[in-house]
Amino acid sequence: MQALQAKTITEPLKADLSQRVQALKGQGIQPRMVTFLVESDDASAAYAKVKGRLAEKLGVTYDFISLKASTSTEELVQAIKEKNADSNVHGIMVEMPLPKHINEQEVIEAIAPEKDLDGLHPLNLGYLLKGTPKMIPNTALSALRLIEASGIDIAGKQAVVIGRSNIVGKPLSQLLLSRHATVTVCHSKTQDLTAITQAADILCVAIGKPHFIQADMVKEGAVVIDIGTNYDENGKVSGDVDFEALEGKEGWLTPVPGGVGPLTTTLIFDQLIHAIETSVIDE
Ligand code: NAP
Repeated sequence: MQALQAKTITEPLKADLSQRVQALKGQGIQPRMVTFLVESDDASAAYAKVKGRLAEKLGVTYDFISLKASTSTEELVQAIKEKNADSNVHGIMVEMPLPKHINEQEVIEAIAPEKDLDGLHPLNLGYLLKGTPKMIPNTALSALRLIEASGIDIAGKQAVVIGRSNIVGKPLSQLLLSRHATVTVCHSKTQDLTAITQAADILCVAIGKPHFIQADMVKEGAVVIDIGTNYDENGKVSGDVDFEALEGKEGWLTPVPGGVGPLTTTLIFDQLIHAIETSVIDE
């Protein structure tokens, strides 16, 4: 299979973003985003730093707010509301997962929809369902962009999405539907998964189980998007697809690392800048 590398998209996109940031600065607007991290695992903290480095490269101000592990839902909601009200802040993210004692849904709903860089506010998910998306969950959008980069004509194709989370599987299935694919969404209760995946022209996998997808599950010539991010005991990352087992096949496959993940990060900034440029949701 041919590797669908993120960098073929991220490199030109970053150059474009730098120019758009400069153009906004020329109009007296300094793009600014805020990331909240309630003290948690190292992976979330590391990811927040990756975004900070990219922000710096692009000329975006990045406020990283680390809150203590005992922060309550009310305290986090209050901190978000202060940033909603700050007209110098254009985008807000909250690193997930949050500690168990915090009500995740309340937190997501506290973010002003027009500043909702994760695209998980019910209003943004509603716009996506309606087919008029505003802020889109970035991982799902990254998967779509990589499918497009393969050159496949999505319309009329059999697309299979494994995983039905609000952050990945559900929004991705809507994006594919909006591109006129025939979409099947699979999950842990799906029966005879292999028969379904074998018919997929486009196979997107977001389960969180290393090497779950084997060669016999994949159609010859398929575009396979591996969204899984799994860390072994040595901190080495791998996806949900057995990359080596699929090597002899025709088609396209996103590597992990180097596929969906880095594009996701860059798309956050694309959505931030786009939101400023267009004021996507009228207040
Ligand atoms: P999640 O909320 O845990 O959802 C996992 C989904 O996989 C669920 O819908 C589950 O089905 C399904 N599933 C689990 N085992 C299955 C099986 N044996 N057969 C079929 N379906 C199965 O996870 P998520 O947040 O969507 O994340 C999925 C993966 O993507 C993780 O590895 C995560 O780290 C990665 N991820 C990557 C990025 C990125 O930017 N690269 C971003 C987000 C997530 P049920 O609904 O029936 O339980």
